[in-house]
Amino acid sequence: MKVIIIRYSEIHLKGNNRDFFESALISNIKSVLREYSYEFTRSNARYVIRNFDEMYLDDIVDAVKNVFGVHSLSVAEEVDSVYELISSAALLYAPKTGRFKVSTNRADKRFPMPSMKISAEIGGDILEKNPNLTVDLFNPDYVVNIDIRENGKTFVYGEIIKAVNGMPVGTGGKGIVMLSGGIDSPVAAYMMAKRGMSLRAVHFHSFPYTSMQARQKVLDLAKIVKKYTLRMTVDVVSFTEIQTAIHENCPEEYMITIMRRFMMRIAERIAKNTGAGAVITGESLGQVASQTLESITSTNSVATIPVFRPLIGFDKDEIIEISKNIGAFETSILPYEDCCTIFLPKRPVTKPRLSAVQKVESVLDVDALVENALSNIETVVV
Ligand code: ATP
Ligand code: MG
Repeated sequence: MKVIIIRYSEIHLKGNNRDFFESALISNIKSVLREYSYEFTRSNARYVIRNFDEMYLDDIVDAVKNVFGVHSLSVAEEVDSVYELISSAALLYAPKTGRFKVSTNRADKRFPMPSMKISAEIGGDILEKNPNLTVDLFNPDYVVNIDIRENGKTFVYGEIIKAVNGMPVGTGGKGIVMLSGGIDSPVAAYMMAKRGMSLRAVHFHSFPYTSMQARQKVLDLAKIVKKYTLRMTVDVVSFTEIQTAIHENCPEEYMITIMRRFMMRIAERIAKNTGAGAVITGESLGQVASQTLESITSTNSVATIPVFRPLIGFDKDEIIEISKNIGAFETSILPYEDCCTIFLPKRPVTKPRLSAVQKVESVLDVDALVENALSNIETVVV
């Protein structure tokens, strides 16, 4: 019978927290497999999926491969621990050319041959049927693995498929990611989910200055991010009133700086209202005028909870590479208008002094503007 073996990163599952991590991991795996029928079992330090429709084998492997906390997978043949059955299963997993070896783990000491001998004999069986192969114990291209287990069954498998690793989503607290339509913020969301954080998103739009397509693009990105975060809700906040107020009352070179502070205040309030403990942005040091140390200082100073910027030390190239890998890039580069592009100053301050920012902002009724924005949120469950 074909089965799928799932291995997890053992280091995260030590000590008292083991049950907490494992139950999150199992529930996340089950959640990505909810469309399929299968049988799931735990067996020492791994999980096994059986009795699924083999037509969906690749789909199931792909889904589980992207669950944070999963270290690797193998598609295996499970047979009764009888030499002939093991040998014919091994033939199924043997390559046709190149260098190979057989590696055996004999947990069931009742099996009548020592593991070295099993490897040698089965290696011989494989060679006999595949004369173009050579055995290489030290530097093989391919390993046929035989795992003789205590319950009278044996797993035979070849390839070890690398999964995403990281920590199970749900074990790293909850955060609000500020999601724009750009390249960076979906990658930032991915990075935090990788460390086990559950995420909710906030998006600021400036209808009618920004279009419904721009809003839809962000929801499409949220859907891509959801592949990794497993759940995703987006709070779409109308930012037009705040931008208009800044535009009419503050010097234009401070537009972006003050806008960022409003975004941060609103994101933090949403965090507090939804039980989240952090805000996440896609900022990268020095990338644009609003991402200098001085600009970040000014934005950060309105926050009272941690603000995580997982891309702070990344080059754009590196961010793009992750964006492509997570399947977001093609959507991120579609043309759109971001709310930040309206009323865009010709010469934004690149090194705003906090005291100057506070002074130019003080003409605004900050609390009222924030409350008003919060009372006009459209919540979309993706
Ligand atoms: P991105 O590619 O994520 O849009 P960017 O390089 O365009 O980033 P900025 O536009 O300066 O950089 O935005 C910095 C961060 O501020 C973004 O990564 C995102 O977290 C947040 N942000 C910007 N615009 C919005 C928006 N309209 N709604 C929500 N968050 C936003
Ligand atoms: Mg942007």
